[in-house]
Amino acid sequence: DELKMHYQPQISIHQQFVNSVEALVRWQHPEVGLISPDRFISLAENCNLIVPLTLWTLNTTLRHCKPFFDRSQDFCVSVNLSAVALHESDLVEMIRQSMQIWGISPNNLTLEVTESAMMTDPESSMQRLHRLNDLGVNISIDDFGTGHSSLAYLKQLPVNEIKIDKSFVMNMSENNEDRKIVRSVIDLGHNFGLQVVAEGIESEQTLSELRGMGCDIGQGYYISRPLPMNELLNWINTTTWN
Ligand code: C2E
Ligand code: CA
Ligand code: CA
Repeated sequence: DELKMHYQPQISIHQQFVNSVEALVRWQHPEVGLISPDRFISLAENCNLIVPLTLWTLNTTLRHCKPFFDRSQDFCVSVNLSAVALHESDLVEMIRQSMQIWGISPNNLTLEVTESAMMTDPESSMQRLHRLNDLGVNISIDDFGTGHSSLAYLKQLPVNEIKIDKSFVMNMSENNEDRKIVRSVIDLGHNFGLQVVAEGIESEQTLSELRGMGCDIGQGYYISRPLPMNELLNWINTTTWN
């Protein structure tokens, strides 16, 4: 019982209100302290533990977020699916059952799959994504811009959203090349009819540049760090983003 979920708010950049959160897992180790998911997700994949871990994060997130969905039908939570979890044959059924257990409507759930996870086995990923899409959940391409997907592939994917990788967003105010990439990805996403999320927003200037570029959703330390549920509730009650 050492895993913990934290939730990072996402704001609508134009209307400045909070309409979604991303669920991010942590391992609170009694001796080592807080361990980042970057250090244990791939380990869990290699030890055949990614399926129970994914199931735990999904069920914990839906249980925590149920009151938000009851209050606002449009509220959405994003859950990360790792590369190995995406190719797990029982995945779709597991997600359907979790939504049933917690009484969650599929439009309240977004599944984030990284562009590189999709590209490890494009054909099989496409099939999986279509099955997830049939469940009615939203699908987001995470870390977009780092996974080398072709436009021919992209146009066939049943996705609703792309998330520009934070490595481009974090430095875009100082780095002209990064700014050009961010602008191009926003235009590309919009031309495909997708919602575009920028993560890794660390300053007011970056947020205001993204607003000028027409980016839809923003996430980053400038808005809020990922928070445990009790702190998220506090933050939502006191934030000026509402
Ligand atoms: P990610 O999905 O790209 O998640 C965003 C990461 O960027 C999070 O790190 C978040 O804390 C961090 N971040 C957010 N805003 C900023 C910012 O303004 N500046 C900077 N420098 N960083 C920011 P975190 O929580 O350590 O997660 C790392 C990765 O671990 C995630 O990357 C995701 O790939 C994976 N992960 C996290 N939770 C889960 C989970 O429940 N299941 C699976 N399969 N993977 C997870
Ligand atoms: Ca993510
Ligand atoms: Ca990301």
